[in-house]
Amino acid sequence: MNFAVDLLSVPRASPPLCLRARSREVDEGDLLRAVSRGPVPILLLDRDLRLVFANDAAAGALRLSRPALIGGSLAELLPHTAVLARHAMELLDRGRPTLECEIGHAGRHYQLSVNPLTTAGQVEGMIVAATDITRRHRATRQLRAAARRLAARTRCDHLTQLMNRRGLDLALRQKTKSASRMREPLSVLMADIDWFKSYNDEYGHLAGDHCIRRIAKCLRTCIESAGGEAARYGGEEFVAVLPGISRADATSIAERFRAEVEALEIAHGFSLYEVVTVSVGAASLGPAITDLPTDWYREGILSAADDALYCAKADGRNRVRSFGWRL
Ligand code: GH3
Ligand code: MG
Ligand code: MG
Repeated sequence: MNFAVDLLSVPRASPPLCLRARSREVDEGDLLRAVSRGPVPILLLDRDLRLVFANDAAAGALRLSRPALIGGSLAELLPHTAVLARHAMELLDRGRPTLECEIGHAGRHYQLSVNPLTTAGQVEGMIVAATDITRRHRATRQLRAAARRLAARTRCDHLTQLMNRRGLDLALRQKTKSASRMREPLSVLMADIDWFKSYNDEYGHLAGDHCIRRIAKCLRTCIESAGGEAARYGGEEFVAVLPGISRADATSIAERFRAEVEALEIAHGFSLYEVVTVSVGAASLGPAITDLPTDWYREGILSAADDALYCAKADGRNRVRSFGWRL
């Protein structure tokens, strides 16, 4: 038996509902019973968005008896769907044959399929079939959350939980773009652990890993309190992106980080300072430089921070050096 919507029509004076089968072979009683008892909630609405028919499944979903539903206003029954239904009626009046949308109700999700009820070409109302898609909706949400977690993992360094190189590239791309658009300064720090090869040779790689983790934690604390993001650039090198931070502030954040690493007092027998230290290069671009191409901006600021780091190393390590333009 065919239960297609075009087998159903409602006369201009709505209730009592009349179902007219175009095919004489279809028994009207059977059809009405099938629609009434089918598993998919079905509502028929007149032009004023009043219910002229609801099947058992719809009554169950709305937690009302069928007689209590008839004549009720959709705006009172399901206030959050009233605007949608009015819009649907406008679209059906303009000749749209079918509309699809999703709604949530009483903790469940439904896909609505809306078709016009016509008499002599005039839209007299609409028939709404609501397929329960709660399980699919839940599965889609869980899948999206898993995809987000996976994407976050691809941007994270597993040893330190800081951003990895890929995460840094994305962050730098985003921050340089918004600094350029907002005409704000941007600073980048590049830090490197001093004489770390000797540290590994002396204390072993596991101790080296532990040291990298402690320094990463220290960097994260300093950087995040300034609204920035920290990354492990590779090996024992770190980069921090500091949006909205000028050269003077970037230098003092870098100096605080350097001092806090020294204050950890991680013994390092092969260091001039007898404890593990870091050298830091800072580079800052002022708002006036934002007319430069963003690729140059991104690569330029990183390589400037690298040059500054090189100076910090050359000047004896355990120190901060900085560069800045058009500040
Ligand atoms: P400098 O002061 O000039 O930076 O000297 P350095 O010894 O720190 O520099 P170098 O580049 O010669 O050595 C870096 C060392 O970092 C070598 C490598 O064994 C160590 N390293 C890189 N990644 C890791 C890691 O994930 N864990 C450990 N334990 N060591 C690492
Ligand atoms: Mg290095
Ligand atoms: Mg080093």
